[in-house]
Amino acid sequence: MTRLRWGAATDVGAVRETNQDAMLTADPIFAVADGMGGHAGGEIASATAIEILQETFDEPTQASLLEAVRRANAKIWDRGQIDENLHNMGTTLTVAARVNNEETGEEFFAVANVGDSRGYVFRDDEFTQVTTDHSLVEEMVAAGELDAGEAESHPRRNILTRALGVEPVVAADVFEIHPQPGDRILLCSDGLVREVSDERIASVLRRLRNPDEAVKELVKQAKENGGHDNITVVIVDVESTGKDPVAAPSAQKQAKDRDASASKSPRLTGHKSITARVVLFLLAIAALLGIGIGSVLWYARANFHVGLEGEQVVIYRGRPDTVLWFKPTLAERTSVTTADILPNDIERLREGTVRTSLGASHDYVRTLLEKSNEARKIADPNAVAPPEPVFTDPNAPTTTTSTAPPPTQPQAPVVTPEVSAANQ
Ligand code: MG
Repeated sequence: MTRLRWGAATDVGAVRETNQDAMLTADPIFAVADGMGGHAGGEIASATAIEILQETFDEPTQASLLEAVRRANAKIWDRGQIDENLHNMGTTLTVAARVNNEETGEEFFAVANVGDSRGYVFRDDEFTQVTTDHSLVEEMVAAGELDAGEAESHPRRNILTRALGVEPVVAADVFEIHPQPGDRILLCSDGLVREVSDERIASVLRRLRNPDEAVKELVKQAKENGGHDNITVVIVDVESTGKDPVAAPSAQKQAKDRDASASKSPRLTGHKSITARVVLFLLAIAALLGIGIGSVLWYARANFHVGLEGEQVVIYRGRPDTVLWFKPTLAERTSVTTADILPNDIERLREGTVRTSLGASHDYVRTLLEKSNEARKIADPNAVAPPEPVFTDPNAPTTTTSTAPPPTQPQAPVVTPEVSAANQ
């Protein structure tokens, strides 16, 4: 049995009036949630996520963890549908739970993630990000259009592509950490990583071996550096893995196991390590020198956004804000009007909702209709579902129905059929 020691701290920060983060340290399950949504929404969303996780995670399996995440999402979504004041609420969630491999019985940590709170491992003096953010800038990094340095200061870094409770179903990524004695697992909200660099966090983890002291020091540094957001940090230390040293697998096998786990969760090994960051930094300089104005052009034109033209929902190429002299242009009209969608979504469309591809924009429009349909069914179980949206190229000589051509960039995964282990 793996023996653990942990510490946790949450703080409102230096600017915000309320703390909408929530956390859970209830061995065998540890979590951080960062709520969002006006008024009390964010606090309720993150607290609900934690409450449902604790209630529902009742057996040490990855399936049980994913079921708990699915139920947390459903509960937040349902509350948001019933109470208009909570309609926009949602939360990130990063949760690490010890589970057993159903065949071998081996204990490991399953880490499920939705949104941009993060999980890291500090092992052998290397600080490695395990999770991948569900954010617009992360997608741009994955597509090679931004580097890590640019992403950290990007004006749109707040835009999430996935969160708990904002759609009827959500897909959680799942990563595996196969613990070794001395590992320090760190879960945190973005209020830590936006104020304290990976190098500084690693330095604290190296210096302060007591997890209580380490979490307090990290919160203190985040506040000293501005504390612009709520800050939450959970550190779980692996003191021993309980493996019989005589029967422990050979170093060769452990290396093999690590390779196997790395292939299942490629983000665990080396991802965003300090060495990798240096390489990325050098690449960033080269890219900046080489690309220059090209990146401005890309920024202005590469994305799409869903907005309104009068009462009609339309898709524009380009961003809602004019970048230098590049204005968005009409890419497609849709058969959907403001009468078909929820009032809160109309407000979002007036501002423009960015998607990284035309296909993702189509998905978003379909989601708007599905949400509206769900709400109608609550009011009237016999309500007839609106027809599928039709997408029309305004420049085409005749009206055609788009069949969502394959996007050239990763889609923002707005809706998937069910919670799935996306990164296994
Ligand atoms: Mg936050």
